[in-house]
Amino acid sequence: MPGKIMMKPFADYHTHTIYSHGTGTVEDNVVAAIKAGLEEVAITDHGPGNIFNIGVKGIEAFEDIRRDVEACNAKYPNIKVLLGVEANITGLDGSLDVPDSILQGLDKVLAGHHLLVRGKTPRDTWGIVGRNVVVRLCPRRLQHLCADLARRARVANTDALVRAVTAHRVDIVTHPGLMVSIDTKELARACALAGTALEINVKHAMESLDFVMVAAGEGVKFALSSDAHRPEDVGRLEPALEIARRAGLGPDMILNVR
Ligand SMILES: [Zn+2]
Ligand SMILES: [Zn+2]
Repeated sequence: MPGKIMMKPFADYHTHTIYSHGTGTVEDNVVAAIKAGLEEVAITDHGPGNIFNIGVKGIEAFEDIRRDVEACNAKYPNIKVLLGVEANITGLDGSLDVPDSILQGLDKVLAGHHLLVRGKTPRDTWGIVGRNVVVRLCPRRLQHLCADLARRARVANTDALVRAVTAHRVDIVTHPGLMVSIDTKELARACALAGTALEINVKHAMESLDFVMVAAGEGVKFALSSDAHRPEDVGRLEPALEIARRAGLGPDMILNVR
């Protein structure tokens, strides 16, 4: 088609394994990534701050994951396997549930705002989780009573993410705005400055077009991710690619396509 740039993903930087609550091993994800024709795949299990056993059991787990990643890199020379994490925001000050000393040693650091986490303090748990849940559950007829809470939640959510990418090494912010309201423009501006990309997550791709268009206006880069929790989903990036196309993003604005 004349004037249309072909874009092909070569990496999937967001995949989960049995070290958090994925169903496959590191090797299962690597084999799936090879099958999907990828040149790079990152293993990014949830940080330890999640409740309900969603995350890794403790930060020591990263040593075990590292061993598996190294074994796969030795066994499958045609793909680059990266050691990463999907860290949780656990403080309104942008604190993450993985210490900087570990983040610095990883190949890819993803961070996201999840509701199934334990905050650093009760005040953080309220700000990161409680207030957002109340806002989400507020019945339509009581919206006027929740408006102020919703406004404060949006400011605090945005601030926490901005502080996280400013104070820590974060390569990609996962599913921005999913389940929690944020000021996309403000986050995108901070990420562009910090050299952090925003994710276009396959699972919520269809809700993402507006967000991508607004964020792109701030000059931020993007990463397309499967957020695979099963090996068969690794490298399935088409819905995110479609959003990127519809938003008019070029390959220079996306970390993992050519
Ligand atoms: Zn998960
Ligand atoms: Zn994830």
